[in-house]
Amino acid sequence: MSKRSTDERATRGGIDVTDSALQRFADVVGRQHALTDPDQQLPYLREWRDRYFGRAAMVLRPGSTLEVARIMEIASECGIGVVPQGGNTGLVGGQIPSDAGNQVVISLARLNRVRAIDAAGGSMILEAGVTLAKAQEIAEEADRLFPLSLASQESCDIGGVLSTNAGGVNVLAYGNARNLALGLEVVLADGQIWDGLRTLKKDNTGYDLRDLFIGSEGTLGIITAAALKLLPRPREKATALVAIDDLDNALKLFRMAEARGHAGLTAFELMSRMSIDLVLRHIADTRLPLSKPSPWYALLEVSSPEVEGAASRTLEAILAEASEQGLISDGVLAASLAQASSLWHLRESASEAQKPEGGSIKHDISVPIARIPDFVRRAEPLVEAICPGARPVVFGHFGDGNLHYNVSQPPGMDKARYLSLWARMSEAVHDLVSRMGGSISAEHGIGQMKRGELVRFKSDVEIELMRRIKATLDPKGILNPGKVL
Ligand code: FAD
Ligand code: ZN
Repeated sequence: MSKRSTDERATRGGIDVTDSALQRFADVVGRQHALTDPDQQLPYLREWRDRYFGRAAMVLRPGSTLEVARIMEIASECGIGVVPQGGNTGLVGGQIPSDAGNQVVISLARLNRVRAIDAAGGSMILEAGVTLAKAQEIAEEADRLFPLSLASQESCDIGGVLSTNAGGVNVLAYGNARNLALGLEVVLADGQIWDGLRTLKKDNTGYDLRDLFIGSEGTLGIITAAALKLLPRPREKATALVAIDDLDNALKLFRMAEARGHAGLTAFELMSRMSIDLVLRHIADTRLPLSKPSPWYALLEVSSPEVEGAASRTLEAILAEASEQGLISDGVLAASLAQASSLWHLRESASEAQKPEGGSIKHDISVPIARIPDFVRRAEPLVEAICPGARPVVFGHFGDGNLHYNVSQPPGMDKARYLSLWARMSEAVHDLVSRMGGSISAEHGIGQMKRGELVRFKSDVEIELMRRIKATLDPKGILNPGKVL
């Protein structure tokens, strides 16, 4: 606790946070889990790329749903803004408090228990702070699969992936986080607990409250636990990296692989030459196992429930046919698990590899998949007109129509000057996306980053409906203030 007198308040930004309110929070979670020391708070106040930095009156680390509920009761009574945080890997600043210093952060990390595993029934109930990697492990120990997979999975947690409706590399076959959730437990703004931990596949009893909370980025309630689907575990996975001359061929290859692989096509990821070049330049232990560079690369994964080489045979057939039709110029099929994971490493290092290149203006867009080639062709001159020499680093989940259309600064340009072009460049890219019937945030959410853009692209009716839902569930506006809306 700080040493300030009871009258002394953190007053910036509207609402006051009195020491007595902070004392009550600390009483709920215990002094050692109510952080006011700046050094202890720091990991909760900044995100890993240093793009967002905030201040907090207190960082709270509750250990149970009841403690979260009690915190919300006090916050509601005192009108204090609460910022829920999971693994702090979000890319749009949603998990970072404002810099006014009058909000509290609730970290869900200590809610990390496994409440139930029902392998026969195909479900597990995990608390919000279980990391995604741990959730995958728990499923595997039960000889089942929890298929959600993201490069940030060692840190992000179940509460975070559901609150952002995260996507990742296997959405193509298994859907995003929303598709993998059966039920939720949520603490509401006033401290009530909604126990919606049902494991039913079918339940048409009125409005779907679960789906309202999923993807709401902490603005409607705090997810404290979830009932998740457990799926059959594939016995074999085959992975290949192929070189492609142009995106029209990538589209043809995708359609062919989809037809041949059916539901077994579990990933179809795209990387531009620039994104591979940056990975090879900056990420240790990476190597391109193809004979010569190519404008585009795709990473394909086929999974099969059978043990005996069925997935490899399917993928080999896809590569053979692609080669015959002239859709690919080169390709390599991983011959071992180690080779497969080094191919995946190329793709999964794409974000990290941009950092040493200076400023990067990032877009997480989707368009109808058939329009991806056209989108990339039309975006390039728009970017060039705003900043000659800027380098599009294009990669992403081609099979979902979702590209991370990131643009690295021209070499040698001042980073701050480049980043000052962010709004103009994003406006141009997002306008193009909108004209093509796409989305300005396919998987990372709105957070604080795209709040301004959201109102440009949603209709008045849609925004008004969102506002009414927010006002109903959080009438005092204390849940993640300043995010999304
Ligand atoms: P946080 O970052 O802590 O929070 C994210 C948002 O959810 C915030 O608004 C926060 O307030 C809210 N929130 C967190 N926990 C709760 C809770 N329990 N209740 C209510 N609200 C809560 N995302 C993808 O979709 N696909 C990808 O492929 C992908 N790849 C990534 C790769 C890297 C290297 C990195 C760093 C990030 C990537 N992300 C990706 C983004 C990020 O990992 C996801 O958005 C993830 O779901 C965030 O989880 P988290 O636990 O870190 O949440
Ligand atoms: Zn992604």
